[in-house]
Amino acid sequence: MIIFLLIFLLLINSIGYTHEYYGLNIEWAKEYMTTIEPFLENEYNIKLQKELLIYNAKNNNEYKKVLIRFKVKNYKSLIRNSYAVTSKGNIILINMEELIKNKNHYYFILTHEMSHQFQYKKYGDILKTNIEWFENDANQKAYKLTKYK
Ligand SMILES: [Zn+2]
Repeated sequence: MIIFLLIFLLLINSIGYTHEYYGLNIEWAKEYMTTIEPFLENEYNIKLQKELLIYNAKNNNEYKKVLIRFKVKNYKSLIRNSYAVTSKGNIILINMEELIKNKNHYYFILTHEMSHQFQYKKYGDILKTNIEWFENDANQKAYKLTKYK
């Protein structure tokens, strides 16, 4: 029984974790995730081993609705000041209102948000520590991969 369980666990590990994609232009996310995840595994020297939901909200209105549905407290400032949010759980929500016009910018934002997932895994609750350092780090990783400015 234990051996069976062990083989099962090894199998799961080798199959890997498939993410879910939802919303506008999810092909972009699927395409970019194939380069983002191996890049960040290498940068942070860990494997994420987590199934994520990548949610491309089609515009400001949908972005707002989803933030409210997920009970994000400071959603009003997020609508004005952010292209995307990453939950400590498994959701990356991206506002496509502006990003739909620029695929490379989308690539940058998705890499930035994915960096936060790796940071959570490696460093724990990043919001309770030096958030500026983590934002800079995520921007640097995103720039290194996408070259987007
Ligand atoms: Zn960030």
